[in-house]
Amino acid sequence: SVKESGKNDYQFFNYNLDEKLSRKVELEKGLRKALANNEFTLRYQPQINIVTGKIIGVEALLRWKHPQLGNISPGEFIPIAEETGLIKSIGEWVLKTACKQNKAWQNSGLPPICMAVNVSKQQFHSEDFVDMVTQVLESTQLNPKYLELEITENSMYKIEHLIPTLNQLKDIGIKIAIDDFGTGYSSLSILNRLPIDNLKIDQNFIHNIVNNSNKAALTKTIINMGIDLNFNVTAEGVETYEQKLFLTENQCNIGQGYLFAHPLLPEKIKNILNKSNLSSYSKIE
Ligand code: C2E
Ligand code: MG
Ligand code: MG
Ligand code: MG
Repeated sequence: SVKESGKNDYQFFNYNLDEKLSRKVELEKGLRKALANNEFTLRYQPQINIVTGKIIGVEALLRWKHPQLGNISPGEFIPIAEETGLIKSIGEWVLKTACKQNKAWQNSGLPPICMAVNVSKQQFHSEDFVDMVTQVLESTQLNPKYLELEITENSMYKIEHLIPTLNQLKDIGIKIAIDDFGTGYSSLSILNRLPIDNLKIDQNFIHNIVNNSNKAALTKTIINMGIDLNFNVTAEGVETYEQKLFLTENQCNIGQGYLFAHPLLPEKIKNILNKSNLSSYSKIE
C-alpha cells in the first residue's frame, strides 16, 4: 500500500542518514590519526603555458588512504578537516611537504617552477598563519617566489582582516592565486583591492565553453578582466583540444587539466622537468 511504501521510504531515508553519519564519524576518527600514521601523500598537477607547452608550476593536491576504507577524496575529507579544526595541522604538513619537494627538485638541478598550495579559509583567517608560512619557508629554504598560495573565492570574507594578511604574504615574496573563480560572489571592486597574482577560472566554466555560449561569454569576460587587472589567468580542468583552442584564441595562456597531465607522483614531475617541455600532444598519465 501507499502507506507501507511511505513507511519504507522513511526507514530507507533514516538508514541512509545513519550510514552517512557513521561514515563521517569514522572519517573524523581516522583523520585524527592520519598524520601520525603517515597516511597522507601529495600529488602534483602541472600548470602549463599552453602556447609554448612549458611547465611553469605544479599544484600540490592532497591524497588520503584510510587504512580500512581506502582512498578518500579531498572533496569528502577536507570539509571534515575544516569543521574539526584538523585542517590547521594537516595544512601545515601539506605546506611543509610541498615546499620541501620543490626545494629538492631545485637542488637536483631541475629548472625552478612555482609550487601552488591550497589553503583553507580557516587557515587564512587564523592568527598565526603568516608566522607558520614564514617558518616553513625558513626550514625548507625555499625561495618565497616559488610558492603560490591558493585561496578560494568563497574564502574572501572579512576583507578588512584578509587584506593585511595577503599584503604580509606579498611582502615576503609569496604569490597569491584566487581559486575556483566565478563560483563565489566577489565584486570587481574587491578584486581590485586584493594583492592577487593569479586568477584561476573554475572548471565548471571551462567544461562548458565549447557548447554553452553563456559560459563562453562569461569566460571571455573573466579573462579580459584578469588581463586588465594585470593578473595571470589560469584555466582549470582543461580536458579537450577544443577547450585549449578557445583559451589560446582568447588570450588565456595558462592551463591545468587532464588534457595536459593528471595529478602525478613526484618522480613523474621530475621526468617532465628533465624534458622541460610538455605539449598537449604528449599527455602524461
Ligand atoms: P582545486 O584546488 O580546485 O583543485 C583542482 C581539482 O580538479 C583537483 O581535484 C584535480 O585533481 C581536479 N582536476 C584537475 N584537472 C582536471 C580535469 O581536467 N578535469 C576534472 N574533472 N578535474 C580535474 P582533487 O585533487 O580531488 O581536489 C579537490 C579539491 O580539494 C581541490 O580543488 C581543493 O579545493 C581541495 N584540496 C585538495 N588538496 C588540498 C589541500 O592540500 N588543502 C586544502 N585546503 N584543500 C585541498
Ligand atoms: Mg586549487
Ligand atoms: Mg579550483
Ligand atoms: Mg575546488
